[in-house]
Amino acid sequence: MLLVFGFSVFFRTTGEGVFHCPRCGGDRAYRRRAARRWITLFFLPAVPLRRLGEVVECRVCRARFPVSALRAPTAQQLAAALPAGMRAAAGLVLRSGDPEDEDARERAIEAVTGYGELGYDDLCIDTDLELREEFLEEEVARAGSGLAVEAKEWFLARCVRIGLADGPLDEAERRTLHRVAQLLAMSRAHALGVITMTEAAAH
Ligand SMILES: [Zn+2]
Repeated sequence: MLLVFGFSVFFRTTGEGVFHCPRCGGDRAYRRRAARRWITLFFLPAVPLRRLGEVVECRVCRARFPVSALRAPTAQQLAAALPAGMRAAAGLVLRSGDPEDEDARERAIEAVTGYGELGYDDLCIDTDLELREEFLEEEVARAGSGLAVEAKEWFLARCVRIGLADGPLDEAERRTLHRVAQLLAMSRAHALGVITMTEAAAH
């Protein structure tokens, strides 16, 4: 009897989920797969050899990527990061001014619901005011990483308007707005331009 030997790489699925496929460019289902070289007998795996590591395979285009591809946020995560970021920024700005001011709260609700978080209300504000500053700052930075320049300006302008709701910006509010801009990776001069223009427009 003739035995047909060979070498082949076989994959075993070790996980599943949704990722941003760099090849077909959207949120796609993936399979995380562990590769291993085998000696085959009649084209079937017979003797396991070396493990070759794990890859992520897009279930739509079948392209394979290193596992690090899972680190890129999906469009859905980015979409969720934006309202969360505006909510966090609103919390920071309110905290640096008068957090009880009704106009400021209303302006914050306008801004956050404008970014799609429709359930955001007075109660949410109270909750956010209790949160750690670093946590809020992280949320702002996360939202900022997915934004184009124009979108950052718009985001910051929304924050300025929250700060202006209880009257002209004071020192603490200005500091916070510059901090928000910094988290969005905007330069200080750029931030100053947006803040000044928004103040002028509010008069
Ligand atoms: Zn794909």
